Amino acid sequence: MTPPIPHHGPLVDTHAHLDDDRLRGDLDDVLRRARGAGLEQILAIGTTAADSRSVVAIAGRHRGVFAAVGVQPNHVSEASSGDWETIVDLAREPKVVAIGETGLDRYWDRAPFPLQQEWFDRHLRLAIELDRPVVIHCRDCEADIIHQLGQLGRPIRGVLHSFTGNAEHAAAFLSLGLHVSIAGMVTFTNRSLDGLREAVRTIPDDRILVETDSPYLSPSPARGRPNQPAHLAWTAAFIAALRGTPVEQFAEQTTANARALFRLPVEETLEEMELP
Ligand SMILES: [Zn+2]
Repeated sequence: MTPPIPHHGPLVDTHAHLDDDRLRGDLDDVLRRARGAGLEQILAIGTTAADSRSVVAIAGRHRGVFAAVGVQPNHVSEASSGDWETIVDLAREPKVVAIGETGLDRYWDRAPFPLQQEWFDRHLRLAIELDRPVVIHCRDCEADIIHQLGQLGRPIRGVLHSFTGNAEHAAAFLSLGLHVSIAGMVTFTNRSLDGLREAVRTIPDDRILVETDSPYLSPSPARGRPNQPAHLAWTAAFIAALRGTPVEQFAEQTTANARALFRLPVEETLEEMELP
């Protein structure tokens, strides 16, 4: 049995795939449980043009839900002509607060690497043009992303999401201007994640974010089950303990960080969502 989900204070889930089948069918309950766990706002992330359109629609229907639009690197091969124009159009919608997710992925090998780099570059330029933060996916590509961001010749506003690198990678991303967001994997007992836990202790208070990456990678004690935004309370408690910070203070700090980075309107929260 999984213990009840705790409530430690206000939280913002900075990365959830609310359009995924495992969440979308049950969205009102998912959002209700999220409110019960202290979540005030959720950033719903697009991974294709169609999915981006869908998360923008979800954000339009639910107070406290905001959207990021982009084509994730594992999907750039499938993109058809017109998909980029769709992203550019959606980026100007009122509840779209970020560009992404974009980035690079050497793990799945689903798209030629030069094509991934080209799409990553497009997203970065759009984010700069519109002055929006960028949401960056990185799988076995820390050095590649550090290199490509370095070539911009200017700091970039955004987040390295579901960070799994070491302290050296974290320092490089921070110096490029990014925030670093931690997902549920940090709670897994695998020794191979000790480097990540070490890195998490080194991120400055004002540059760390938290996320679920729902429905993927549910944190302990719900590991192996579909993830949902409410599970962020467990991840936040684990990270706070790791950093030696009271969890209520860590929740307040990461919420303030998310609101500052994504310019989330403080008055629009899940708490105020009108129930049908
Ligand atoms: Zn994602």
